[in-house]
Amino acid sequence: MIQKTPICKLCGKGPAVLSHVIPKFAATWIKKVAPSPYLRAADKPNLRKEDGIKERLLCVECENMFSKLGEHKFAERIFQPFRTDLKLKSDYGGWLLYFAVSLAWRTSVVNIQALRQNKPHLAPHVDDAIQYWAAYLKGEHNKIQPYEHHLFLLGEDLQNTPSSLPKGFFAYTQRAFDCCLARNDQIVRAYTLLPGFVFWSTIHPCKQKGWRNTKILPKGRLGPDVPGKITDPLFGDFFEWRVEEISGKPISERQRQKMKQTFEDYVKSHSPEEVRLAFKPHLQDQLWQKKNGRKILPPL
Ligand SMILES: [Zn+2]
Repeated sequence: MIQKTPICKLCGKGPAVLSHVIPKFAATWIKKVAPSPYLRAADKPNLRKEDGIKERLLCVECENMFSKLGEHKFAERIFQPFRTDLKLKSDYGGWLLYFAVSLAWRTSVVNIQALRQNKPHLAPHVDDAIQYWAAYLKGEHNKIQPYEHHLFLLGEDLQNTPSSLPKGFFAYTQRAFDCCLARNDQIVRAYTLLPGFVFWSTIHPCKQKGWRNTKILPKGRLGPDVPGKITDPLFGDFFEWRVEEISGKPISERQRQKMKQTFEDYVKSHSPEEVRLAFKPHLQDQLWQKKNGRKILPPL
């Protein structure tokens, strides 16, 4: 049987290449610092893919456009510096909105099928958003509204975290990539996690309450003088469930042995400082569990 090459889901012209759903710079970083990375998409939670989730989504031209107009600047000016020092300040321009829209588009395209089955009444809202964002990404219009795109920085510092956390919180928030459509019966949001960064885009309804200092503007600043705060109960519930869903999956003995070997190989082939950095979130999780032991995440 001859399989037709899928066409780019953004421009509908070029042949779609097999590429990362996760932006490449983030996949590279996770692979570099994490001995056993979590790179998963919502519809395949049991698969641990070491090279990132791959899909035929974009053609080479559209991938290059994403990289040039958003990804590259985000990686260079925010992701890399903030991974080293969370107390930094950084001004941003329109490229951050472009990057956030590209993530929301990707997350929605990859996860819409599951939503059609589980919450079919919400799917038309997601179809509308996908179309609207695609036109924006291709430069056919420059409007962000009616949607909102939020960015929340997840601090690594134990002192700055809420008083109780779900198990595996640090490993998940600092070493994982994740994306899905977060929803209940009336609300749907595009959720994308890069290590240390939560992107949250409204789909239906378009307005978002309970997120302070997080809305991405045409230009603005990130840093400790504009601390983000979330009091949105949907996000609190969703995030707690998601951390446990991803971190709490029981693993088979075979997988455990494989992970043990991966850890041992990593320790042998990396410097003590690299090993310390790699295991830091796991140690934080253990310390936190010892100190608190509670699993419930309060509204943030
Ligand atoms: Zn294309």
